[in-house]
Amino acid sequence: MNVRQSDDFPATDAHLAYTPEIARSTAPIYERVRGVIPEIEWPVHAPYVAAINELKRKRNAIILAHNYQTPEIFHGVADLTGDSLALARQAANTSAQVIVVCGVHFMAETAKLINPEKTVLIPDLEAGCSLAASITADDVRLLRERYPEVPVVSYVNTSAAVKAESDICCTSANALEVVESLETDRVIFLPDEYLGRYVASQTNVEIILWRGHCEVHERFTADELHVFRRQYPGVEILAHPECPPDVLAEADFVGSTSGMIRYVGESRPRRVVMVTECSMSDNVAVEYPDVEFVRPCNLCPHMKRITLPKILHSLATMTYGVEVEPDVAGRARRAVERMLAVGKKAGSRGVA
Ligand code: SF4
Repeated sequence: MNVRQSDDFPATDAHLAYTPEIARSTAPIYERVRGVIPEIEWPVHAPYVAAINELKRKRNAIILAHNYQTPEIFHGVADLTGDSLALARQAANTSAQVIVVCGVHFMAETAKLINPEKTVLIPDLEAGCSLAASITADDVRLLRERYPEVPVVSYVNTSAAVKAESDICCTSANALEVVESLETDRVIFLPDEYLGRYVASQTNVEIILWRGHCEVHERFTADELHVFRRQYPGVEILAHPECPPDVLAEADFVGSTSGMIRYVGESRPRRVVMVTECSMSDNVAVEYPDVEFVRPCNLCPHMKRITLPKILHSLATMTYGVEVEPDVAGRARRAVERMLAVGKKAGSRGVA
């Protein structure tokens, strides 16, 4: 692990104060987020926002932020934002030498797979994912023994070691497209049972499932959605395909995070609820102040490990570098690149 901090990059909290200059320089950012960040909180965030943005330039670094990051990260310091697929694609096109991934560990690994020559940092190594933790490379090898000749499709929410044992990756935005691209009767789909079931409901391909779940989306219930409909007349319900099947059956639209954002942008519902991680609604509400967002608050504890102070520390000390063992990286990269090639060939049709 590479840990260093130079005098050129002072980054301890002692140096950070909400000065008039910081207030002025961060005012345009605050104007964008004022609807979702109370004014009283901005003096806490602003010094970090200013310091991170300055350090990014000095380091020739960019920050990728997943849709589930908090608004002060998503709108304050991120250069590229989106869902797992968008981040993977954008990571492939950057000329920056350093990539800081504000998301969870598998996302940083994916960025490293696509950019092996670049420095990829994650601000907190403990930012994991219940889906990624639900399956190991040994599990995949056992599945292959049990179902010889059946291709393995791995959701990107997996470790590089699991990707390395897979034929191709997918995200929630392109899962259906990827499954059908294989032109086979059966696939092993892992690790998300609910996304797999949703894909199975959209295709004639037989889907062999793994029983992994997202600890955030599995908490939503159909009863909760009934309550939204009663309490907020006319509300349109958008649900992520990691939710249980009875929740998806109750939704007006099922799609990835990018699919939900597109839906709001194109349909401009008067009132909407996004049945997904809590910060997503805040981030989208900034772009669509005319839409009323009903906000159930299921937080992802892993995504929330990433904070502005940790991002600043990450850039100042160049930690925590993400590395993937070369043999694993080569095989995992092939699975990711096959997915990206499917997207290029067939456009953006998918679950969303
Ligand atoms: S929201 Fe769910 S799938 Fe996404 S990182 Fe958190 S636990 Fe993993």
